[in-house]
Amino acid sequence: MIKTDVIIIGGGATGCGIARDLALRGIAHHLIEKGDFAAGATGACHGLLHSGGRYAVSDPEAAEECIRENMILRKIGEKCVEQTGGLFVRLAGDSRRYRDKFLESCDRVGIDTELLSGARALDLVPKLNPSLEEAVRVPDCSIDPFRLCMLNAITSKNRGGVFHRHHEVFEFIKEKGRLAGVRARDRFTGEIKDLRARVIINASGAWGKKIANLAGHDLPMNLSKGSLVITNHRLTNMVINRLRPPSNGDIIVPNEAVCLAGTTSISVDSPDNLVVGADEVDIVTREAGRMIPEFNSTRLIRAYTGVRPLLLAEKDATDDRSVSRGFRIINHQDGMYSILGGKLSTYRLMAEKMVDTVLKEVFDKTVACQTGDLPLEGQEFLSGYPLSTRLKDMKDIICECELVTRKDVESVIDRIGTKSIGDIQHRTRLGMGPCQGGFCTYRALGIIQEKGKITCDESMGALREFLQKRFRGIRPALWGDQLREEQLVEGIYLNIMNMEQQ
Ligand SMILES: Cc1cc2nc3c(=O)[nH]c(=O)nc-3n(C[C@H](O)[C@H](O)[C@H](O)COP(=O)(O)OP(=O)(O)OC[C@H]3O[C@@H](n4cnc5c(N)ncnc54)[C@H](O)[C@@H]3O)c2cc1C
Repeated sequence: MIKTDVIIIGGGATGCGIARDLALRGIAHHLIEKGDFAAGATGACHGLLHSGGRYAVSDPEAAEECIRENMILRKIGEKCVEQTGGLFVRLAGDSRRYRDKFLESCDRVGIDTELLSGARALDLVPKLNPSLEEAVRVPDCSIDPFRLCMLNAITSKNRGGVFHRHHEVFEFIKEKGRLAGVRARDRFTGEIKDLRARVIINASGAWGKKIANLAGHDLPMNLSKGSLVITNHRLTNMVINRLRPPSNGDIIVPNEAVCLAGTTSISVDSPDNLVVGADEVDIVTREAGRMIPEFNSTRLIRAYTGVRPLLLAEKDATDDRSVSRGFRIINHQDGMYSILGGKLSTYRLMAEKMVDTVLKEVFDKTVACQTGDLPLEGQEFLSGYPLSTRLKDMKDIICECELVTRKDVESVIDRIGTKSIGDIQHRTRLGMGPCQGGFCTYRALGIIQEKGKITCDESMGALREFLQKRFRGIRPALWGDQLREEQLVEGIYLNIMNMEQQ
């Protein structure tokens, strides 16, 4: 039986942000995550550190939160934020009145803008649609969600926080009408752990309602699926948004060597087992192609999908503890709090408000929040960032697309003792390039096996699971060169490695 002060369910940006904040305020905690860090919406998002421009017209309060947090995160998280800047491009037919409203709204909430002629915008991003009318420059950035979660976790671990990754909460421990703890199952070994705490924080995003239901509560949530595509190279060094009311496929974000374009928005009943529809890939590429025509002929390497945990409309909400329109904290009055809604860009603020609430209502104390003032710890370990630094060490390469070396893979296995390919991917970018792990996965599994973390049989199981997951991601984007390469990869696995008979 493990005893602590706070249990956090969910290792996305919100959960990891809460862990860092609790650590800096001296509160003991354990975090439970059923996958790796960022396994939910955090790892499936666009990676846009919003300037707030997207929300300026429709939701000024959320826009104001975004610009404030944007300025904080670029200061505290230099190694996971790329200060790309962003453009909102107005194409022929897009409303000029909306542009005026956009500029006024940004000005009102403190977002710096600069109106640029089409020619000036093309100087900045030469691949933009040459017939664009004009563009507005805003302080958007690109942010790496995996690194963000891991860096938040480092501060927590440095101060005694404990992370149970690959553990799924499946039951609550109840005592005298209150929630006294949780039971979690190790997804690799099946071992069950009981954890007890004074308070439980449900930061499980789109799974929030499921967790609340386990505890006998309901939550006012809508789930909205959004799908994105990834190109095999970078088509823009700035974030590109369409200057019109938010719609499908109107954002392109550069991230390391690739670009992410999305998204769609489709209401779903459950956050599990979702697939990207071919029609979604068509919508996103068509819309992205309007802003950057080369998008239509560029190789796509993958499509993926995530679920937004949206709040039901205010009029439907039954709880008046609304912290802001962007997110809400709910006290279930039995030892559990839920934190809902929000955005990756505002995760730090969400964590701050959550910890303020718990300190006041459960621990009866006030300790100042420091998460906005102190740099994220552990950034010095991100030696492989950016790509140019990786070019310096080209010995014994395991993943040619992302230049990941044997040393990188071994160091992750030694550091976190993992047997999961996904864990190595998130920490090194192994398998995230054009071949999507086609050539490097079996090499990395071989290293895990050499290190004695996995048996031969287990490694075949892990390989099969990885290949199935990989195929789900690349299938909607399979045509042209990507399809040709996939046939080669399939030949390797089926014929050389005899996977078919497995
Ligand atoms: C398609 C899409 C694009 C987006 N783009 C952006 C963007 O560009 N910028 C931006 O600011 N925001 C963006 N967002 C919003 C943003 O991604 C989310 O608001 C944010 O990441 C939510 O983080 P979270 O930690 O609250 O939830 P999640 O990241 O979903 O974390 C919840 C975690 O709980 C875990 N969990 C669930 N059940 C259990 C259980 N039983 N036991 C243990 N663990 C459990 C899950 O595995 C998951 O890792 C986007 C969202 C989507 C869907």
